[in-house]
Amino acid sequence: MNTQEKSTHKIQEHWATIRSSLRSHDSATEGINVDRINAHFDEADLEVKPVVFLNSKDYDYYYNFLDDSAATLRSSGVYAPDIQTALIRRELSADQPREAVRAETVAVHELAHSATIETQPYIHYTEAGRIFKRGSATLHAVRNGFSQHENPIQKFNRGRLIEEGYAELERGLYVQNNDLEGQLLRGSQNLNDIRESAIPLHYWTQERPGRAYSSIGAVGASVLELLTKEDPTLLNSLREGRGNANGLRDVAKKINAIESGLYQNMRTVHTRSEFETLLEDVHSRFN
Ligand SMILES: [Zn+2]
Repeated sequence: MNTQEKSTHKIQEHWATIRSSLRSHDSATEGINVDRINAHFDEADLEVKPVVFLNSKDYDYYYNFLDDSAATLRSSGVYAPDIQTALIRRELSADQPREAVRAETVAVHELAHSATIETQPYIHYTEAGRIFKRGSATLHAVRNGFSQHENPIQKFNRGRLIEEGYAELERGLYVQNNDLEGQLLRGSQNLNDIRESAIPLHYWTQERPGRAYSSIGAVGASVLELLTKEDPTLLNSLREGRGNANGLRDVAKKINAIESGLYQNMRTVHTRSEFETLLEDVHSRFN
């Protein structure tokens, strides 16, 4: 083995250790309707990876092995392609059932990310990029779902809006199908602002009672939701695109059929403000 192969091997061994430790960890499923989650993905005909609910201390312990970019440090859940496991953070001292419903819907978002077959890793000797770090080497999944790793320095992934949007779209469908808006938004003080926003109610949540907020994925989901109203077959293609290249091509074709060039624009935006500008744009034409 050359140095690169040795390093790759070492990282993969490290992943395997974390994966088995995590998967044998007790899942903190108090108040979580696991059957309802499974039913959602069964109905969508999507194959998802294991999910582990963890109390905040355990979550932080495992999260420490994951991406340490500042943007995701306070995350409430993550799907780690390298260990093919979704981790969800519980705040078990918080008020129930809002906390449980929130964690449950976060699990739906993260599991939607996990519904993909393509996770071929490769290696980078750089400081940046998502996933596990061992010394100076970073092993990186080339693609997860619609998100394609492109620039390890900027930490930007091509297709981030579509990938985050897709995962949040599944979460939003779950919230609507199970009538969970009331529980997620109970006590929220900014309901009037939310009703005027281009981001629908089912993409908002609260960490604790106060002001509800929406994630960056909610912006992408709102774009995709508007597009699925223009072409109702798009949702099916988005789901098919998780598992095969034909589905991916269909997504591109259908979005561009709604508006020429829109798919390329959606693939190349990176920041929340760029996401929001794109949503305003699509919202003004297709709402
Ligand atoms: Zn996400």
